[in-house]
Amino acid sequence: MKWEENVRKCVPYVAGEQPNKKNMIKLNTNECPYPPAPGVVKAMQDMDYKALRLYPNSQVAPVVNALAEYYQVEPDQVFVGVGSDDVISMAFLTFFNGKEPILFPDVTYSFYDVWADLYRIPYKQIPLDENWHIRPEDYKIPNGGIIFPNPNAPTGLLEPLEKVEEIIRSNPDVVVMVDEAYIDFGGTSALPLLEKYDNLLIVQTFSKSRAMAGLRVGFCIGSKKLIQYLNDVKYSFNSYTMNLPSQALAVEAVRDDAYFKEVTGKIVKTRERVKKELTALGFTFPDSYANFVFASHKSVPAKDIFMALREADIYVRYWDKARINNSLRITIGTDEEMDCLIDFLKKYLANRAE
Ligand SMILES: *Cc1c(COP(=O)(O)O)cnc(C)c1O
Repeated sequence: MKWEENVRKCVPYVAGEQPNKKNMIKLNTNECPYPPAPGVVKAMQDMDYKALRLYPNSQVAPVVNALAEYYQVEPDQVFVGVGSDDVISMAFLTFFNGKEPILFPDVTYSFYDVWADLYRIPYKQIPLDENWHIRPEDYKIPNGGIIFPNPNAPTGLLEPLEKVEEIIRSNPDVVVMVDEAYIDFGGTSALPLLEKYDNLLIVQTFSKSRAMAGLRVGFCIGSKKLIQYLNDVKYSFNSYTMNLPSQALAVEAVRDDAYFKEVTGKIVKTRERVKKELTALGFTFPDSYANFVFASHKSVPAKDIFMALREADIYVRYWDKARINNSLRITIGTDEEMDCLIDFLKKYLANRAE
């Protein structure tokens, strides 16, 4: 068809499957296994449906203000979007318009290359070292911008702040984005570096540590100038990105810091226990600082384990991709869920060994 010549063709991102089975154990998309804060639940029950008649606040001011107060920055340093996917996509469109390729790791969040292709941004994937770490030296080449997650996904590895800063310091002429989707599980945020670098954009999300993947709330913090540019693009795209209920409920999540710390603390504790149990079963993995582990077994191929788990309605994530096709990304669920996983693996591996 002639009209097809003018279609913007792209290869879409493939999200983890969202099965909806009774009694399934879902450890494949890094959701939080615990409910959102009690204040969120209450606000949802008390919500006045008549308010839905009106457009929501286009600046997402309630959430922006709550986050500014929580992270001790100015409200005009905060941008809120519909999940951090929306924030990052908008930031790619705003900041990555140079001729040089943007840089990100070869093993990383698999949405970055999708957005780059969508917006026709040239990019170069920089190989992680043999231990799956980022080498800052590799990011000292001509480029049109940089993005990497810290901790990285799907490895779970956290880079120390000195390394993050080395990358930012070496790239004053482009925007550097640090995707901190998993920073609340024991990592150190790059937020203090904002005082020194006006080209740094830090992206976080409510989807993992704040148990609100279903509400779609993400945000970024940066210099006023960066946020102003980002808002100009957002308002040129869609003024009312975030719906009214999400705005009201996100505020409640930020308000309850005790619950937030309790939940992330529990997940970290479960993660450390699961690491020991997986090691005892013959698995190895990078030392994760996220709410998942990226595990390989010493003798059984990851794909076989993935299929067997799936058969038992235990869902984990597997990619049939170079370099990572012998690893499973296992989200940390509740203690009970992880006990079921470990029990299954014990039996399965014992059977295979016979
Ligand atoms: C989950 C994730 C995101 C996006 O999450 P949202 O649900 O869109 O906020 C972004 N980056 C990384 C590395 C992630 O793992």
